[in-house]
Amino acid sequence: MNVFVLNCGSSSLKFQIIDTDLEKIANDKDICLAKGLIERIGSQALITLHVIGKEPFKSAEPIRDHKAALTYISKWISNPETRIPGINSLDDIHAVGHRVVHGAERFKMSVKIDKEVIAGIEDCIDIAPLHNPANLKGIHAAKELFGPNVPQVAIFDTAFHSTMPEISYLYAIPYQLYRRFKIRKYGFHGTSHRYIAYRYRKIMGIPREQVNIITLHLGNGSSACAIKNGRSYDTSMGMTPLEGLMMGTRCGDIDPTVIEYLIHKEGTTLDEVYSVLNKRSGVLGISGLTNDMRDLLMEIEEHQDRRAILAVDMYCNKIKKYIGAYMSALNGADAICFAGGIGENSPEIRRNVCSNMSYIGLELDHELNEEAVNGKEMEISTPTSKVKIFVIPTNEELVMARDTVRVILDVPRVF
Ligand code: AMP
Repeated sequence: MNVFVLNCGSSSLKFQIIDTDLEKIANDKDICLAKGLIERIGSQALITLHVIGKEPFKSAEPIRDHKAALTYISKWISNPETRIPGINSLDDIHAVGHRVVHGAERFKMSVKIDKEVIAGIEDCIDIAPLHNPANLKGIHAAKELFGPNVPQVAIFDTAFHSTMPEISYLYAIPYQLYRRFKIRKYGFHGTSHRYIAYRYRKIMGIPREQVNIITLHLGNGSSACAIKNGRSYDTSMGMTPLEGLMMGTRCGDIDPTVIEYLIHKEGTTLDEVYSVLNKRSGVLGISGLTNDMRDLLMEIEEHQDRRAILAVDMYCNKIKKYIGAYMSALNGADAICFAGGIGENSPEIRRNVCSNMSYIGLELDHELNEEAVNGKEMEISTPTSKVKIFVIPTNEELVMARDTVRVILDVPRVF
């Protein structure tokens, strides 16, 4: 079955075409046939389309909206020169899987999209105004393009964390506010944390119930997750993806009083303050240079810029604090797993995070740590380390494609 997996952001669209079915899932034989990215939708868009095994096609063209972006991709798919193996036209796409950021308490697992599900995703816009509208745009555009006979499935970023206990997800505000408005921690990056936990148990050859680990998804958005008996027990992001670790441009945990104080001091609006906390804080805000970790590390190497060093040290310190908290919440964990653009590619950040952690018996193998880049899945702790350390490149698209197949065939969806 060829599954078109779609991830729509406010001005971007990422996709993969994955050939998978129940047999391929059981044998880990799913194949990614093609993938692509369209950025800056709404103006002069940057387009990268890639049939796996061939040279990527790159272009810059005006693209009006998500529907125009999908139409562009469909023309590329159907172009006889593109030659995606087994795919000659849109008729060869059998299902579509959509990433949906917020499923609130309503969606605890992936579901087939119908009118009711769309209404449910719309209801979540209230608490996810930055994300769910873009996801809905993708759903509507795909419906029009692929027609009513191609089933579509929604895969929620929040779903994996629906197993969190009250003790983890409640905020210490009047309980009635949770009852009335569902104000609570939901967590995000769930598809990624779920994939990392799945790979960990495959590597270790253990059943799901024996997975007690801390997963770190470190990218432009970053989050940590405490996984107990194979399920999400706690996670760093909150009601929205603003809470938790320091990120590329987001502040993470902060005293809420700062918001009112800033409005007062700067004579600014609530929207403007949220824009500062979401778009101009984090690594960018502290360094004053960039939100891009690779560029920041280069800057440190070349110029030893003080604020760049400070931003990196703060970023890592926050992760260390969450590891400490989750070690305690889990009464110890068997492993710490790094993923995401930073977690998968930066030995420096992993070294910094794992330093001075002898209190939990954590020992990084420095040589292995240097080797673990460019998508390598490997253990990077010493044989004597009490807590194992892994780099596990995440693959959210694979989870999405597999869930799409399972939902359509109505089989259980535990990874
Ligand atoms: P993601 O959001 O998961 O795509 O991750 C994006 C982040 O990963 C950006 O901050 C990149 O600079 C960072 N990144 C990618 N490659 C490296 C690398 N080799 N070293 C450090 N950071 C990297």
